[in-house]
Amino acid sequence: MAENPTVPPRGMLIDGELVPASDGAVLPAENPTTEETAGELPDATPEDVDRAVKAARRAGPAWAATPWAERAKVLHAYAAVLEDNLEELARLDAIDGGLPLTSMRADVRGAAGEIRYFAGIAGETKGRTIPSGPDALTYTEFVPYPVVARIVPFNHPVKFIAAKVSAALAAGAPVVAKPGEQTSLSALRLAELVRDVFPAGVLNIVTGSGARAGHALSSHPDVPRVAFTGSVPTGARIMAAGAPTIKHHSLELGGKNPLIVFPDADPVRAARASVAAMNLARSMGQSCGSSSRVFVHRDVKEEFLAALVTRVGELRVGDPLDERTDMGPIAFRAHYEKVTGYIETGRKEGADLLFGGGRPTGLDKGFFVEPTVFADVSMDMTIAREEIFGPVMSILDWDDYETMIDEVNMLPFGLTGNVWTKDISLALRTARRIESGYISVNSAGKRPTGSPFGGFKSSGIGKESGLDELLSYGREQSVTVTLD
Ligand code: NAD
Repeated sequence: MAENPTVPPRGMLIDGELVPASDGAVLPAENPTTEETAGELPDATPEDVDRAVKAARRAGPAWAATPWAERAKVLHAYAAVLEDNLEELARLDAIDGGLPLTSMRADVRGAAGEIRYFAGIAGETKGRTIPSGPDALTYTEFVPYPVVARIVPFNHPVKFIAAKVSAALAAGAPVVAKPGEQTSLSALRLAELVRDVFPAGVLNIVTGSGARAGHALSSHPDVPRVAFTGSVPTGARIMAAGAPTIKHHSLELGGKNPLIVFPDADPVRAARASVAAMNLARSMGQSCGSSSRVFVHRDVKEEFLAALVTRVGELRVGDPLDERTDMGPIAFRAHYEKVTGYIETGRKEGADLLFGGGRPTGLDKGFFVEPTVFADVSMDMTIAREEIFGPVMSILDWDDYETMIDEVNMLPFGLTGNVWTKDISLALRTARRIESGYISVNSAGKRPTGSPFGGFKSSGIGKESGLDELLSYGREQSVTVTLD
């Protein structure tokens, strides 16, 4: 297996300066491939977070007053920094998060694309006029929030920290962002790279634990707007932390996403798409949108399972820095233990382990798990009900449509759904029945730029990645003027 690459210590970006934690605290960054330390990250104190919030608030009025086309130019320069440093940033995520280099290159490209998209629509932060009769004029203005907190998870490290700040910045709101503490090395390199791109205080990046840095940010009385991507329990804690100061929250949370295969679907295509939609090759199933519950009609079950096992067997598990690798290790030890615990529970609860379930041969070190497929899963099993966020697929079979739809909708999650049938009316009627915020029909779940994404039920509040997200970083002020 690979040698252990090491990364030099780097500072957080606060008020245009690269700084350590004020008490000198650091957290180790573990390389999940070698199980050795790859580097470290500052563990921001509440005082550091407070300095970042104050810096953002100071920078806010000038940034909001900057014409949108000028802000867009800055965002294009920001995207160019990512594109110019694609290889280094992608490698950092492969080292720190175990994510395959090839997919992390795609993540950096995707992040740059999203930043450019929001730069392009920044001018949509416009107002309206409201009919007010001959003697008055009523209009509205978009007023950006004076600071936005952006807290993101570990699974798409550079993509999330880089791109998920861009809508707020395009809207004229300065940002304090925090990456997942398990994969912060690329965020710290990004902090260095973009230090001179933005005016001081417009983009601040703090690192550290959720309990210390994350909580300080999400409970800060001067932060009126918190945009969070992560798990349902943390989302609930963030809402509670923001309640005393009535913060505006948007929450992109977990899922246990259904993929439905009808009897007329091509079982081979559907099986291959279910592996792609599971994001096994991209992120080892550590993806909110992973189709981890596959409902296959009994008429096509046999062919579907055969094609699924063939496809999963083609995936190469190994060193994420190797260009040929499809799947690296799980991102960090605690998560590895959680994922393997679920596999054990699946076996104990009587699901049929069709593929994987263990450590891949030849990989004695690192948090590696084989891609794992359980068949004959039922909705009373833990692996069908809880988000595993790892390379574990649960296959359920069905023959009664209404029972299947009830099972699809019986969980508190509602992030994505996926439908496979040649009957387009049936597909669209079924899409309407699925209680999820994003539905794919006969596709592996790839979304075009600008399509709104966000969950129903406990999977979240609000929509990201489109115009709604841009507009969510400001408030609408109405003004009525009497005409003399
Ligand atoms: P997590 O909730 O444990 O952590 C996410 C972020 O919140 C991290 O930066 C963490 O440090 C911070 N945090 C933790 N406790 C905090 C607190 N009390 N106050 C403020 N911040 C705190 O999630 P994770 O394990 O990093 O990521 C996996 C989860 O994220 C999964 O549930 C997955 O489905 C979800 N996710 C959702 C989307 C989406 O778009 N819906 C995308 C990616 C991941």
